[in-house]
Amino acid sequence: MKFPMIHPDAHHHASASHASHDLPPLDPRVPDVDPMDAWATRTLGYRLVGPLNRRKVSVIVVGTGLAGAGAAAALGELGYHVDVFTFHDAPRRAHSVAAQGGINAARGRAVDNDSLDRFVKDTIKGGDFRAREAEVCRLALESTRVIDHLTAIGAPFAREYGGSLATRSFGGVQVSRTYYTRGQTGQQLQVAASQALLRQVAAGTVTLHTRHEMLDLIVDDGRAQGIVTRNLVTGEVRAHTAHAVILATGGYGSVYFHSTLARNSNATAAWRAHRRGALLASPSFVQFHPTALPVDSPTQSKCTLMSESLRNDGRIWVPLAPGDARAPGAIPEAERDYYLERRYPAYGNLCPRDIASRATRAEIDGGRGVGPLRNSVYLDFADALGRLGRAKIFERYGNLFEMYSDATGEDPAALPMRIAPAAHFTMGGLWSDFDLQTSIPGLFVGGEAGSGYHGANRLGANSLLSACVDGWFTLPFSVPHYLAGLVGKPVLDVASDASVSAIRAVRSRTDRLVAAGGTRRPVDVHRELGEALQAGCGVTRSASGLVSTIETVRELRESYWQEVRATGSGDHLNAELEQAGRVADFLELAELMCVDALDRTESCGAHFRVESQTSEGEAQRDDDAWRFVSAWESVGGGGWRRHVEPLEFRRVGLETRDYR
Ligand SMILES: Cc1cc2nc3c(=O)[nH]c(=O)nc-3n(C[C@H](O)[C@H](O)[C@H](O)COP(=O)(O)OP(=O)(O)OC[C@H]3O[C@@H](n4cnc5c(N)ncnc54)[C@H](O)[C@@H]3O)c2cc1C
Repeated sequence: MKFPMIHPDAHHHASASHASHDLPPLDPRVPDVDPMDAWATRTLGYRLVGPLNRRKVSVIVVGTGLAGAGAAAALGELGYHVDVFTFHDAPRRAHSVAAQGGINAARGRAVDNDSLDRFVKDTIKGGDFRAREAEVCRLALESTRVIDHLTAIGAPFAREYGGSLATRSFGGVQVSRTYYTRGQTGQQLQVAASQALLRQVAAGTVTLHTRHEMLDLIVDDGRAQGIVTRNLVTGEVRAHTAHAVILATGGYGSVYFHSTLARNSNATAAWRAHRRGALLASPSFVQFHPTALPVDSPTQSKCTLMSESLRNDGRIWVPLAPGDARAPGAIPEAERDYYLERRYPAYGNLCPRDIASRATRAEIDGGRGVGPLRNSVYLDFADALGRLGRAKIFERYGNLFEMYSDATGEDPAALPMRIAPAAHFTMGGLWSDFDLQTSIPGLFVGGEAGSGYHGANRLGANSLLSACVDGWFTLPFSVPHYLAGLVGKPVLDVASDASVSAIRAVRSRTDRLVAAGGTRRPVDVHRELGEALQAGCGVTRSASGLVSTIETVRELRESYWQEVRATGSGDHLNAELEQAGRVADFLELAELMCVDALDRTESCGAHFRVESQTSEGEAQRDDDAWRFVSAWESVGGGGWRRHVEPLEFRRVGLETRDYR
């Protein structure tokens, strides 16, 4: 099935795009060796900081998810002086806790012909050849020790009867490499990582600042040297300085309002760093997860995720006839379309998320959606229940079935689940080199806030992995290399001009939001923004749709500063003010997402431009024109300049992605 093209080529000149072709290409500083050897070569070349000097250098880590908690705990344990910040009330409440399905590792223990090379191939292909190959190799290589490390710090991975760690399959692969703790993998890993972090807090190497929101980055002498935070309880705005700053602040999928993310996930930290000069890569690369709860009412606040692991046993289908309103049990087999199994027989229900979401969107748009609003499809366990029995299925997915029942009042063992695509994971994020250092020296990034591993589409269970690899096995090597040059140098004064002017900027922004005194709640503007993005920069995108979405976003942003209502003041706990600031940042980010999507005229992975599709409705990549990462620089007057990081593939030959 092809997706309709809406006014092809309309306005493609789009004044919004500021792509510039005369800038030098970005250098990711990957050693010029076989990509599988690049990480070992790079780490061997890193300078070290001697144990006695480590307490003389300090690092700020923002975020206590798997990436931030790992980095802070590891650097603390090594003896560095670490300050770690989270807007949550405890480190373990970071959003990593929401992950259900699992974490990949290329250990090949299932004896199903898995290997490091196959992991790399699956991940590069899964990302539609828009990821950095050497970074994917690092992910594969370090994955093997991540599982041992997490086990050592207390993660209770599921085990087979004989005691060995159990695995299952996730989308986009044909092997079994996903380690899990029932349907609570993120929660268990987050508990283990938080405990490791708190151990360092107790040891005095790490100072923990909860309920502190980073609202700006302090850059002085061309280096990131601190952050400005607002204490969310007292309203105090102050500067914190250090020799280096790590942002591990998560993804920005919540810009779409309805997403699988927690309501308080936001883009502010990364966006503020971008405004201070950090390049933002591929902001339009957003993954829509095919198995979330559909939007059943306009006041619904989020789309709870039903884990991809369910696709190991659940079968996705729609009625063959558009508008068929019969109950699912009354629709005979012959009148059902198991469209993923039909279109992608080799991978079936386990085809990658971008492909499954697009196919599902096509079924819904074609009138075959089910449920009261006809905006969902069935995920059916009847076959698996018949084959394996209720006890086995509940052992595998019991808590996910309960979660579904709690949210919908329906029993998935009796009636198929109803699911639909929802914004989920952002492959885009701050651009960084191979050391995870952004374009601002001294500013590092880890986890979903970064951008290197997943290209244009992330494979399921690769994100807990990338957050853990960054936190435990990359930043603790690469940050000291940078710090080695700063031993003996004083930390920036919190009363320096740079600190004071950053504090002033935060205060004046907060004051402006409070003073606006309008009538629109930030949540209402956020919902409107999300709806515009879903329609114009969602599962599919067109030139004309993007141009008009940019207009909508600009209008929303312009009126926002007059119309917003953030009641109360900035001097105390004020949840509406927090939200108002985050929505203001979303309103800027949303424009850049559309600019990036409009600029990239090819389709690749989750970025599907209707003008660039095959006769069968699959993504049509254009490697001659677009085999690079777009990294956007914020320039004065609210515009952007595009930088380019060319992509080379030495171990995995370019090929058309095909899951049939
Ligand atoms: C519902 C759901 C299920 C998922 N399931 C899986 C799965 O099964 N497998 C998988 O691999 N991936 C999964 N993912 C993706 C994965 O969970 C995330 O990509 C990953 O956990 C992100 O970790 P992180 O450390 O980068 O950030 P997070 O865990 O999001 O942590 C961000 C941290 O930054 C802090 N923070 C953010 N902004 C600020 C600020 N301005 N000031 C101070 N602190 C700030 C937050 O308080 C938090 O501590 C899932 C995602 C969702 C939403």
